[in-house]
Amino acid sequence: MGDRKLSVGIFKLSSCDGCQAVFFEVDMPFEVVYWQLGKSDSVFEDVDIAFVEGSVSTEEEREKLYEIREKSKLLVAIGACAVSGGIQALRNFGDFENVLRVYPEPNWLKVSEKSLPIKEVVKVDYEIPGCPINAQVLQDFINAIKHNRRPAVPNYPLCMQCKRLGYACVTDLKGLVCLGPITNAGCGALCPSVGRGCYGCFGPCEGANVKAFVSWLKGQGLYSREIFENENAYAEPIREVIQ
Ligand code: SF4
Ligand code: SF4
Ligand code: SF4
Repeated sequence: MGDRKLSVGIFKLSSCDGCQAVFFEVDMPFEVVYWQLGKSDSVFEDVDIAFVEGSVSTEEEREKLYEIREKSKLLVAIGACAVSGGIQALRNFGDFENVLRVYPEPNWLKVSEKSLPIKEVVKVDYEIPGCPINAQVLQDFINAIKHNRRPAVPNYPLCMQCKRLGYACVTDLKGLVCLGPITNAGCGALCPSVGRGCYGCFGPCEGANVKAFVSWLKGQGLYSREIFENENAYAEPIREVIQ
């Protein structure tokens, strides 16, 4: 690629824009050619890196995602919607006909029965979890690409980050439910830092043994299904225990 600046596209599927808004907080050394939220002159052309926010919730989005994949060398899923299906994936657990009944004119909706993580539709090269993603994690990712290093997105339990930062464990101290043992690090253990339990907005970490964690919660009298009913509920290891 010589001295040419890498080109970047930032795309949105079903989502709230919160993850792509984090790009306003980072130093971007590449040329952003497509970003509807942050540029008035976006061009949907071939890019070196496509960052994709949001889940696949309509047929139009499925087609758009195929096109993004075709036009990008590296595809990075950003945020819980893209990685796990998002809040909108809670409908995947219920009866779709009941979901449609909420609306007075359901025939106007062009929504698919399921909200899917993008890796269930196309090949994804990297995933950056979080709701929203963390600016420092995103900056580290961008810097790694810039310096030709393999990006390392945290994939270990939040408990490790929490203990390194010296926070008191809210489960030990207050008997609160905290999903830290099975959740991706990356947020700096924000909730334990203010005495609250983690509810898992960074999604399950690599190798998370959610079944064992549930069994432990049950043993402590702390388990309820609602604990997992959030934007990462459709992530595979969590989906298995609440389906
Ligand atoms: S992951 Fe959260 S912040 Fe990001 S787009 Fe989805 S709902 Fe918004
Ligand atoms: S507060 Fe949560 S993240 Fe921190 S050590 Fe305890 S269980 Fe782990
Ligand atoms: S502690 Fe858990 S819920 Fe709180 S910001 Fe971090 S990952 Fe999200």
